[in-house]
Amino acid sequence: MEFMPVGVFASIDAGLGVKLEVVRDLGIKTIQLHTPAKASRTPENAKAFLEKLSEYGITTTVVFLGFEGETYETIARTAETVGFVPEETRQARLQEAREIADFAKLLGVEAIGSHIGFVPHDTASDAYKGMVAAIQEYCDYLKKNGQRLHLETGQEKAENLLAFLHDVGRDNIFINFDPANLILYGMGNPIESLKKVGKYVRSCHCKDALPTTGTPGVDWGTEVPFGQGKVDAKLFLQTLKEIGYTGPLTIEREIPEDPERQKAEIGQALALIESIKATL
Ligand code: MG
Repeated sequence: MEFMPVGVFASIDAGLGVKLEVVRDLGIKTIQLHTPAKASRTPENAKAFLEKLSEYGITTTVVFLGFEGETYETIARTAETVGFVPEETRQARLQEAREIADFAKLLGVEAIGSHIGFVPHDTASDAYKGMVAAIQEYCDYLKKNGQRLHLETGQEKAENLLAFLHDVGRDNIFINFDPANLILYGMGNPIESLKKVGKYVRSCHCKDALPTTGTPGVDWGTEVPFGQGKVDAKLFLQTLKEIGYTGPLTIEREIPEDPERQKAEIGQALALIESIKATL
């Protein structure tokens, strides 16, 4: 694969990402895939999707998990509803996560990305131990599939994330680094955080944001097109190179309600990334 190929979030069905035709039109060669809905996760769909990817010369690098009932309305609601944190849905979500991994395997994809949810900060609590056990169990399942888990960053500070990775203690758990999330959730400087967790970063999102004008960690910051927020796109790419990262730079811009603007802003991010890459 070329050095840091540009990527974009795409969907196999009606989802948050762009359609494959948009990826092709933009000349982008790698995608991360949003959670395929249950009805889409059939061997026939996998085959048809692979044929299209092959025709367009596109490679899928990560398939992301997502579940019914998750909401990102507010940071508090995110903490309550997202990932494997809610105990009442944990087992059902683990089962669905295994099914999504099996579908990803049909697509030949070796990495599963996930917002696993807010990891509890009290490492002596049952809530924390329950999360560690759930992620260990899932990593072990992925291992049998020849797959890795990439944790999406943002919901905890770099130090807490490192401690969690250590406690999970599996060799197929890594990080999908999203610099904008650290700003959105008020969890620290993205570049400093990237340096701290660098050795675990196996995929990333090119996304940007402005910090909240309210209370960090309580009120959301605002997502903006890549290059227009506080990430410092050039420093982000330079730092990725410094930590030895060579993988895809996946643009994330989730405004499916406005597909024309979405395509235009992804195109602008692509041009910006290519211009920075030329200087690295
Ligand atoms: Mg992201």
